[in-house]
Amino acid sequence: MGDNIFAKIIAKEIPAQIVFEDDRVMAFWDIAPKAPVHILVVPKKDIPNIGAAQTSDEPVLGHLLTVAAQLARQEGIDATGYRLVINKGPHAGESVPHLHVHLLGGREMGWPPG
Ligand code: AMP
Repeated sequence: MGDNIFAKIIAKEIPAQIVFEDDRVMAFWDIAPKAPVHILVVPKKDIPNIGAAQTSDEPVLGHLLTVAAQLARQEGIDATGYRLVINKGPHAGESVPHLHVHLLGGREMGWPPG
């Protein structure tokens, strides 16, 4: 497992506001929310970023998305809508080297992103 903040959350070495967990993924509230709903969905497997994902990771990548959609329903933002974001690399503002899907909702968002 990589040595980064999300690896430590997955290992339960540091606390997080966990909203979902199964054998493959974990979801927890973002510590600095950018929207009324801002949850991060992460694979338990050490995948540093989407560019490092392998074909064999496709089942867990799909699971990240269906878990995110389920959490959106749970948080009551399915009807108003939401955005799923994966940042990769410096131009996208990636800051934690463990793959994560941002679930953002609860307010209207602009497009294109800044
Ligand atoms: P990114 O910029 O796409 O790499 O997203 C990283 C996200 O992780 C940011 O939105 C941070 O606010 C969030 N974050 C950093 N540390 C923590 C933490 N300890 N618990 C929850 N979220 C965190």
